Amino acid sequence: MLVLDGKIAAAAVKELLKTKTEQLAAQGKRKPHLAAILVGNNGASETYVASKVKNCEETGFASTLIRLADTIDEASLLSTIHELNSNPNIDGILVQLPLPKQISEQKVIEAIDPLKDVDGFHPINVGKLVQGLSTFIPATPYGIILMLEHYQIETKGKHAIVIGRSNIVGRPMSILLSSNLKQGNCTVTICHSHTPNLKELCLQADIIVAALGKPGFVTADMVKPSAVVIDVGITRVEDSTAKKGFRIKGDVAYEEVATKASAITPVPGGVGLMTIAGLLKNTMHAYEQRANG
Ligand code: NAD
Repeated sequence: MLVLDGKIAAAAVKELLKTKTEQLAAQGKRKPHLAAILVGNNGASETYVASKVKNCEETGFASTLIRLADTIDEASLLSTIHELNSNPNIDGILVQLPLPKQISEQKVIEAIDPLKDVDGFHPINVGKLVQGLSTFIPATPYGIILMLEHYQIETKGKHAIVIGRSNIVGRPMSILLSSNLKQGNCTVTICHSHTPNLKELCLQADIIVAALGKPGFVTADMVKPSAVVIDVGITRVEDSTAKKGFRIKGDVAYEEVATKASAITPVPGGVGLMTIAGLLKNTMHAYEQRANG
């Protein structure tokens, strides 16, 4: 059984980006620059954004973190986004989700310049993804594709099951895996909370991507021998024995599924790290697209 190690695969992506950034510096050019907006102080969001900023630094990118109070109104947030849209030194903009109730996430997503939309959530970029055009691929599915590429997992002709149909993970994942790409060309079944025969479907899958947010949901009896299992889930589960009072759990019962799978991602240390690699790739793509446009 192969452990699909996010640390190793993400380091390989970051190393290539770092080399590119050093070449830009040697040519006297500026660095790619990511701006991240964090609204409020949700613990998980703080952790994700801090990690994104740290990874930018490690890759040689510039980053700007804009922190806004959770009481901020929608108009003020939109105005901050418009300023970043028109700032020529900013290549990528991300607004960490979720947002407080008074703010429409859809309006925020649509306010970001599609050319700076490094999360790939803008409808224009989603449309391009569906049509197989060059675009920003949402970071988590992109990271999974990069992981499959790094470990040279064959996908062509395989049956993939994606559990979860969210706009940020499940749906774009299903589009990518079914696209005519090297790490695509699967026959994809997308499952959700109204899928009645999930276990039977999973047992037919060569590749399972679990993105539903239910710790330990995918058990060994749902997995065909030698399947590839990708665990996207990140749930904080209370644990008084843990230093922080919680542990991060994935959607797959790792210990038992690992005995059946041919390859599996751990949580933590798997898809989460690849998500950041996807984001960094998108930021470089934004930089290059803007520099050449
Ligand atoms: P979401 O809540 O938006 O969507 C969950 C999906 O799961 C829904 O489409 C729902 O229909 C489906 N679902 C729920 N219960 C189900 C069931 N019993 N059977 C089948 N389908 C079911 O979640 P999301 O934003 O897509 O995130 C999913 C998980 O991935 C969460 O744990 C989240 O924290 C994690 N996540 C991780 C990363 C990462 O970088 N590793 C990034 C984004 C999200």
